[in-house]
Amino acid sequence: MDGRRISEIMSIRKIVTLPDPVLRTRARKIKVFDSKVQRLADDMLETMRAAPGVGLAAPQLGRSQRLILVEYAEADDDPEAPPVPPKLFVVANPEIVRHSTETVSANEGCLSIPGYLGEVERFQSITLRGYNLHGKPLRVKATGWLARIFQHEIDHLDGVLFIDRATQVWKVEDQEAVQVSPTQDESRKRQAVSS
Ligand SMILES: [Zn+2]
Repeated sequence: MDGRRISEIMSIRKIVTLPDPVLRTRARKIKVFDSKVQRLADDMLETMRAAPGVGLAAPQLGRSQRLILVEYAEADDDPEAPPVPPKLFVVANPEIVRHSTETVSANEGCLSIPGYLGEVERFQSITLRGYNLHGKPLRVKATGWLARIFQHEIDHLDGVLFIDRATQVWKVEDQEAVQVSPTQDESRKRQAVSS
């Protein structure tokens, strides 16, 4: 199938939530980059955007495979600057190969743990290696929120959830409040949504 036909049949799927055991399972590496993987990525994209979320890992759709999507707009430091369009990353078999010694704490949520937030310490910057959907190697350098989202999604592939790493977790009464502002390490207010 060509890309257009696949995109025509992609669909919003149900996001798996705790206590589904797939969220606690180490996901399998993707070995064959075929139309099934493409279809999974398409469904993940549509589901992530509909949620909405800034990242999604295949186990969150009940598929125990090492595939993540991250879509995030890195804000400019100048508040007057025009908004930056979000950048989409689709990474199979991602692996963090380098990280900063510096860590930062901020609030995170997860589409698989609705209604909860936690303060999580993450590496300030990372370099990851993985593959695109054609099986070609790729490398991504990320800092700040983008680095945080990648770390959160890669954790999902190992059955690790933000509540395992959080220094504190709390329930959010109002679902609207799941959109939170990052802490002092960010120079301007930005929203972080669940992934
Ligand atoms: Zn998550």
